[in-house]
Amino acid sequence: MGITRQLYQLQAIELDIESKEQTLTQSLARLGESRILLEARDGLSAGEQRLGELKKKQHDAEWEIEDIAGKLSSAQETLYSGRITSPKELSSLQHEVESFKNKRDSLEEKALEIMEQVEAAINELAGIRRQLGEVEKSWRQEQQKLSDAIEELKILLSKLKKERQQALAGIDDETADCYRKLRQKKGKAVARVEQGICRGCGISLSTAELQRVKGNRIIMCDSCGRILFID
Ligand SMILES: [Zn+2]
Repeated sequence: MGITRQLYQLQAIELDIESKEQTLTQSLARLGESRILLEARDGLSAGEQRLGELKKKQHDAEWEIEDIAGKLSSAQETLYSGRITSPKELSSLQHEVESFKNKRDSLEEKALEIMEQVEAAINELAGIRRQLGEVEKSWRQEQQKLSDAIEELKILLSKLKKERQQALAGIDDETADCYRKLRQKKGKAVARVEQGICRGCGISLSTAELQRVKGNRIIMCDSCGRILFID
């Protein structure tokens, strides 16, 4: 195999390694908990917190109703006990009973509203749990796929690195060094010649240059300085 072909193949292997290493890095970064999953979990804890607050409100309202019911029944008991005879006191007690009743009614209304809110929050939470379940399921599947892809990439990379070693073994040190410097400087060290054009920079080569490139020696492009390779 000619030296320029060897270099061209070495470069192809190295570019493949670079691209796969990039994919590997991106895949590794995607391992772990995703933003959507974290958001869904936040949604669940917000829903649970809201339900907890509403239940506390419900409990407080029930306690207030119990309290006012106690006061009402004790006022009613006094009112009908016959112990109070003063019309002024009786009238005032009657007012008190009325006011307790009104308070109780409005508290019961409020408790009913809270109960409806609790029911709505329970339903909402069930929806959030279902959604989180779906998110977690697809996240687990995605993570599995990702882990499989990562394993596959690692295997491919180790294979490519062996191929790279083999390709390098057939190239003399001086040429390898020249190639390495060009790679560092230009990204691609070897440019393919197609239809008389250097694919590294797009310049047309003269017939004489083409002949020299075909001679399987290391010839640099006058324009971009890359090693020219013709198939
Ligand atoms: Zn060129």
